[in-house]
Amino acid sequence: GPERPQAWFGDRRVAVVRDGKAWVALVGLPLALEPGLHDLRVASGSLEETKPIRVAAKHYPLQRFSVPDHRKVEPLPEDELRIAREQKRIDEIKSLFRDEAEPELAFRQPAQGKPSGNFGLRRIINGLERSPHAGIDFAVPTGTPVRAAGAGIVVETGDFFFNGNSVYLDHGQGLITLYCHLDRIDVAAGERVAAGQVLGLSGNTGRSSGPHVHWTVLANGAAVDPRLFLRRK
Ligand code: ZN
Repeated sequence: GPERPQAWFGDRRVAVVRDGKAWVALVGLPLALEPGLHDLRVASGSLEETKPIRVAAKHYPLQRFSVPDHRKVEPLPEDELRIAREQKRIDEIKSLFRDEAEPELAFRQPAQGKPSGNFGLRRIINGLERSPHAGIDFAVPTGTPVRAAGAGIVVETGDFFFNGNSVYLDHGQGLITLYCHLDRIDVAAGERVAAGQVLGLSGNTGRSSGPHVHWTVLANGAAVDPRLFLRRK
């Protein structure tokens, strides 16, 4: 019908976009999700139904690397308060859902570097098992302009313990992009940015093994492979 249905995966609203005459729900599946059947709840007018989604297992390769600042891998007790405070803010950002009729779905690469770390890698950092890689890395020298992958609103900027200087962009419909390890941030929360607009300069801040840009795409709070959203050239 003409009216956009609403859909939820767990307790999160998911993006619903038009594809020709059909409405399509774009469901972000968390890396930690168990394979098997999961429910997508869909509401259209007064009708509500549950549609099962079959999730298959996916295997991601293992990556081992070291970062010079071991404290970023094994934080000190005095870091825990800061990490918890930042995690709370990150969780709030992940739960944002802004109604936007046509969210941008064809993103552009935030920096023109060589991809140096794929999405999903299981990671051993300084010999310790750590969370999987929730984004994609591009190797670029410090000071490279980092650009908005699509039009959006800056929802948060700041220096985060693990991610270093970071910018979060809200593209609407629960689609959020995140740019990490920046040397310099050139935008502020609340600012509306155009696709390709410079957000700051790349760097090596936070838990980082060398100068690079880390880029994450979140859909309904789940980090998904950014390549799925890269526009075809
Ligand atoms: Zn990364």
